Amino acid sequence: MAYSIVPGSLSLSRSVLDRAADRRRDVEWLEKAWAADDTQVALVAGDKLAVESERTSLRLVPPTAAPDGIRIFLGIDRVAGAGQTAEGRAVFAVLVDAEPDESYAGLREIGGVLDDREAGIAVNVVGLCNWHVVHTHCANCGAHTEVVDAGHVRRCPACGLSHFPRSDPAIIVLVTDDQDRALLGRNEAWPEGRYSTLAGFVEPGESLEAAVRREVLEETGVVIGEDIQYAGSQPWPLPSSLMLGFYAKATGYTINVDQDEIAEAKWFSREDLTALVEAGTMALPGNISISRRLIEGWYGKELTGSW
Ligand SMILES: [Zn+2]
Repeated sequence: MAYSIVPGSLSLSRSVLDRAADRRRDVEWLEKAWAADDTQVALVAGDKLAVESERTSLRLVPPTAAPDGIRIFLGIDRVAGAGQTAEGRAVFAVLVDAEPDESYAGLREIGGVLDDREAGIAVNVVGLCNWHVVHTHCANCGAHTEVVDAGHVRRCPACGLSHFPRSDPAIIVLVTDDQDRALLGRNEAWPEGRYSTLAGFVEPGESLEAAVRREVLEETGVVIGEDIQYAGSQPWPLPSSLMLGFYAKATGYTINVDQDEIAEAKWFSREDLTALVEAGTMALPGNISISRRLIEGWYGKELTGSW
């Protein structure tokens, strides 16, 4: 078994900006960057981003046109030609305190159509803003926290604790059997015919491999052996997951679904998948998901159709 995800095909794993973390406490530099003519600001409200009217690119505004809100320094665009100086152009985001209207769009809508630079900006911004929205108070003492380090840390003025944005690791795995069929499951909340790879959060003190074995066993009763191969990762900041993709080989093939999370699970051959997708009776995971890429990596080529 040596399946792989096509390099560059994970829509939300693309990134171009230099995050320039060393500038986050450099107040003088940050003020200068905010005042520069060529600086760009992404606007985010809730977990949605301001987009241009054709909804295929972000609406990046100059600082003078940015509304009030939490200001976040995202990094420096050093691609040749970006900005007016050799150092490159600074990029910020502002978390707007307002309900998003129709000039805003979510990652599921635009994650696959943005270019590499804007996709990286979008994922970073949405992840940070989701964190800011639910971490206004200190988890240690309950006091209101303040934003520091250019929007990348919240500090508690009462007890002094610093709070950092979190990413929650989750495994997502395509399991194969001795006939090279793929194990796909249907969540109980999904309609008939919709299947995906298995996934679940990594628990404290657990290795990724142990999480793969536990999740697959819990959800389907299928036993995974030693053959677990890392395939790639993709941020999924809805609200804060980091999806870690794997291919794994089963050693025990009997399916016994838990009925709690998974309504049904089946072994699919490539021929099964081809026939079902062509007949329109099977729905595949969305085109920006790592699940879709794991399935295509096993299948051998791109599949058409989606949820
Ligand atoms: Zn505190």
